[in-house]
Amino acid sequence: MRALVTGGAGFIGSHLVDALLARGWEVVALDNLFTGRRSNVAHLADEPRFRLVEGDVCDARLVEELTCGCDVVFHLAAVVGVTHVIANPLAAMRTNVLGTENVLAAAYRHRVRVCVASSSEVYGQSEQVPFVEDGPRVLGPTWIPRWSYATAKALDEHLCFAYRDQGLEVSVVRYFNAYGPRTDPQGYGSVVARFVNQALSAEPLTVLGDGQQTRSFTYVSDSVEGTILAGTMPAALGEVLNLGSEEEITIEHLALEVIALTGSRSRLTYVPYEAAYGADFAEPRRRAPDGSKARRLIGFEPRVSLRDGLRRTIEWFRG
Ligand code: UDP
Repeated sequence: MRALVTGGAGFIGSHLVDALLARGWEVVALDNLFTGRRSNVAHLADEPRFRLVEGDVCDARLVEELTCGCDVVFHLAAVVGVTHVIANPLAAMRTNVLGTENVLAAAYRHRVRVCVASSSEVYGQSEQVPFVEDGPRVLGPTWIPRWSYATAKALDEHLCFAYRDQGLEVSVVRYFNAYGPRTDPQGYGSVVARFVNQALSAEPLTVLGDGQQTRSFTYVSDSVEGTILAGTMPAALGEVLNLGSEEEITIEHLALEVIALTGSRSRLTYVPYEAAYGADFAEPRRRAPDGSKARRLIGFEPRVSLRDGLRRTIEWFRG
C-alpha cells in the first residue's frame, strides 16, 4: 500500500508516517515545514519506503503529482494551534480550505481514497457534552478570529461530503486535543507541551481563566491508530468520526498532574484570557467526545491513559 501524508513532518503526521511504515506501507510526506519539522522524520533518513517532499498543499500541481498512484491520502496538513490561527487568520483559512480542496480534487481525479483530519473545534461552544458527530455546532461571532478555524474545518467537511456525492471515497476524523512526543516544545499547539516545558524549567504553569474549562487529551498513538482505521476500513467511508479519549479533565487538574509527574517545584499562576490572547478571544468551556460511533464502526478504542501518556511525553521532553 502506498500513502501520501500531507503534513507528514508535523506532530500527528509524523507519528502516522511511522505507524504506516511499521505496517509495511510506502509513504510520501508532503510538508511545508511551517509547524512541521525535519527532525520529526530525521530517523527515517535511511528508510527506502519513505520520502519527504518539502512543499505546500496549496500547490495544486504538486498535490496532483503526489496523489497519483497512491492508495490512500491522509490529509493532515493545516495551520493549527490557537496561537497560529489568531496570529494570521487569513493565511490559516487559505491553507485550511484551499489546501483541502486541492487534495480532494486530486484524489477525485485519480480515484484515491482520502481521510481528512478535522477537529473537535468544529463543535465550538456547544453545551451538549459529550459531543456526538451529528450534534449541534455552536460558534461565536465572526469577528473573533478563533472561530475561523472551526469554520474552515467545517467547510472542509462540507467539501468532503460534496465530493463523496460525486463518488469520492472519503472519511473525516475529528481529533480531540492530541498530545505526545514531537508537540511544539514552545507549546503553540498544545497546552500539554506548554505545561510540561514550564514544569521542567521550574516556571509557573500558566492556567488560563479559572482553569475549570475541560478537555479530553488524547495520546497521539491513539489518534494515529484511529486515523489508519478510518482511512482503510470500508465502514468509515462517507462518515465523520470523533477520535478522542473519553477521559475529560479540567485544565487546573492537568496542570497539577503535570507537576506531580515531573516532581517539579512549579506552582500554578492564573492568567486572564485577555492577557494571553487579547480582547477578542473565546473558547469552549467543556470538550469531550462521545466515542460510540468510532467504536461501533471501526472498533476504535483509545488505549493510553492520560497518566501514561503524560509520562511518555515528559520523558520525551526531558530527552
Ligand atoms: N491553556 C492554558 N494555559 C496555556 C495554554 C492553554 O490554561 O498556557 C488552556 C486553554 O485555555 C484551553 C486548554 O488549555 O482551555 C487547551 O488549550 P490548547 O491551546 O492546547 O487547545 P484548544 O483545546 O484550546 O484548541
